[in-house]
Amino acid sequence: MPKPDILMPAPMSPEVISALDDRFVLHRLWEQPDTGEFMNSVGPHIQGLAVSTLAGRIDDVLFDRLPALEIVANFGVGYDNVDARAAAALGIMVTNTPGVLDEEVADLTLGLLLATIRCIPQVERYVREGLWPSGAFPLSPTLRGRRIGILGLGAIGKAVARRLDGFGVEIAYHGRSRQADVDYDYHDTPVALATACDVLIAIVPGGAATRHLVDADVLTDLGPDGVIINVARGSVVDEAALIAALRSGTILAAGLDVFEDEPQVPEVLLTLPNVVVLPHIGSASIKTRAAMGQLVVDNLVAWFDGGKPITPVPETI
Ligand code: NDP
Repeated sequence: MPKPDILMPAPMSPEVISALDDRFVLHRLWEQPDTGEFMNSVGPHIQGLAVSTLAGRIDDVLFDRLPALEIVANFGVGYDNVDARAAAALGIMVTNTPGVLDEEVADLTLGLLLATIRCIPQVERYVREGLWPSGAFPLSPTLRGRRIGILGLGAIGKAVARRLDGFGVEIAYHGRSRQADVDYDYHDTPVALATACDVLIAIVPGGAATRHLVDADVLTDLGPDGVIINVARGSVVDEAALIAALRSGTILAAGLDVFEDEPQVPEVLLTLPNVVVLPHIGSASIKTRAAMGQLVVDNLVAWFDGGKPITPVPETI
C-alpha cells in the first residue's frame, strides 16, 4: 500500500515531523520554493492535513485545492482556525487535541488570576528595578471573598473550578445550557453572570458564536472591583471595550493570555498598570505540547489505519 500524502502548511515540532515522516509521505509547504506550483502538482494527491494556528485559516479556499483531502488533524483543542462545518459538508474529518491539556491550561489560568489580582509581575519588576529600599509596594487587591464567574464550564473550565474550590471562593458559571450534574450557580447570560460575580474567567471556544461575548455591558456589570481573565480566544472579549473599561476604572484589572490580533498586542494595553499579558501560553509546557503533538499523529494514524480517529470534533463525528 502506498503511504498517504500529508500536507503540513507550517512547521510543527521536530517530534511530530519525524513521526509523520516515518508513517506518511509528509510534504512541508513552507519549504517549497513555489507554493503555487506545488499545490497544482501535489495538492490533488493530499489526503491529510496536519495544522496548527500558524497554518492560518483552513477553509473552502484550501479544501478546493485538495480534492482528495480526508482529514484535518488540528494541534490544539480550540479549532476556530478550521472551518469544521465546511469540512463536514465535504465529508472531511476534523480532529483536535482535547483531554491532554486541560490541567495544564487550568494551572496557567490560576497563575494568571493570582498574578493579576496580587499584581505579581508588577511587584517583581519593582524589586528588579531596585525600588524596594525606597519603600514598600502599594497594597494589592485580594482574591479573598470574591465570586468567580466561569464563562464556559467545559473540560478546562471544570479543571479551573476544581482548583478554585480549594481556594475557598464562590463559583458560578454561564454556558448555553445549565449542566444537570453541576452544583455551581448557573446564569443564563454573560451579563447575568457578570452581575453576580467580580471575577470573570473566559474559557469558551472561539469563533462567530462567542465573538465579543464579553462586551461593554458585561464589563460594566462586572463593576469597578471586577477582574477579567481571558484564556479562551481574543475574539471572545471586545478588546476596544476592554481597554476603555480598564482606562476609565469601569473594571479593576485584566489578565490576558489571548488577543484579537495575535501576536499583536495593542500598545495601549502594555502601558496600563492594571493589566497582565501573556503570549498565548495556556498549554505551552514541554510535556503538554508533546502530548498534543502525539495526539495529532495518533489521529492521522488511526484514520488511515482504520477510518476511526481518536478525537473527532463534534461537527464531523
Ligand atoms: P469544551 O468544549 O470542553 O468546553 C467549552 C465550554 O464552553 C462548554 O461548557 C460550553 O457549554 C461553553 N460554550 C460553548 N459555546 C458557547 C457559547 N456560544 N456561549 C456560551 N458558552 C459556550 O472546551 P475546552 O474546555 O476543552 O476548551 C475551551 C476553549 O479554551 C478552547 O476552545 C480554546 O479556544 C480555549 N483554549 C485556550 C488555550 C490557551 O492556550 N489559552 C489552551 C486550550 C484551550 P455549553 O455547550 O453549555 O454552551
